[in-house]
Amino acid sequence: MQSGVFESSRGTVAARWVVTDREGGYSQPPYSSLNLASHVGDAPLAVAANRSVLASALDVPSDRLVFPGLIHSSDVGIVDAPIGLFPNVDVLVTSTRNIGLVTMGADCVPLLAVDPEAKVALVAHIGWRGAGDGIVETILTSLVNAGATVKRTQFILGPSICGECYHVDEERRQHVLNVLPGAGRRDAQGLDLRDGIAAEVRAAHAAVKTIGGCTAEDPLLFSHRRDGVTGRQAAAVVLV
Ligand SMILES: [Zn+2]
Repeated sequence: MQSGVFESSRGTVAARWVVTDREGGYSQPPYSSLNLASHVGDAPLAVAANRSVLASALDVPSDRLVFPGLIHSSDVGIVDAPIGLFPNVDVLVTSTRNIGLVTMGADCVPLLAVDPEAKVALVAHIGWRGAGDGIVETILTSLVNAGATVKRTQFILGPSICGECYHVDEERRQHVLNVLPGAGRRDAQGLDLRDGIAAEVRAAHAAVKTIGGCTAEDPLLFSHRRDGVTGRQAAAVVLV
C-alpha cells in the first residue's frame, strides 16, 4: 500500500490518497489478502474487514467510503453524501470533504484526480471499453463542471496491465487507439491504457504520476488476465 497527499501551490494539504496492493488484508486465496471488491466471490466479512483497512489508511470512517458500480460505463456519479455504492457508473466526482471515493481494478486503470485549489476530487476505473468510448475526455469535462481547472489538477494512475502483457485483437486495439493513440507505443499488438491516458492528461497540461507497476507481472498485485478468479486492488482519495 502506498499513500500520500495532494497539496495546493501554497503547500496546504487538499486531499489524501491511498493505492493498495495485495498485502495487509484478511481474505483467503484466491483473494489473498487485501481484496476490496464485494462482487468477485470473496467472503463478505473479509471484504468488510479489508475495507476497514483501506478506510483507516485514508483516515475516514468505513461508512464514509463510496464505491462506483464498475460496469465499464462512461457515466459520471456526482457524490455529495456518503451513500456507500453509486451503481451504474465508473467515475465519481465530489467537492464534499471527508467522503472517501474509491475505485478498484485488477488490470484496468485506477485513476485519481484532485484540483487542490478548487477542492474537487475524482476517481475512475478505465478499461478498454471506457477508453474507446472517450472516458478521458468525459473525466476532464466532469472536473470542469465540478469547478476544477484541468491545468491545476493532479492525476495519479494506479497499477494496471502493461502493453506487453495486454494483447488484444486488432479491431479492439484500433478502436482504442483512435481515441488514445498513446496506448499503442510500447507493443505492436498490445494496449497500454495507462500510457495512453497519461499522454492525454499531459496534453491537457495537467500533472500525472503513476503508482505501481504491471498487474500481470507483479505477484503482489491482483490481475484478472493472469489469474481469472481473483480480488481487486483499490485507489482512493478524500478531500480534507
Ligand atoms: Zn506487463
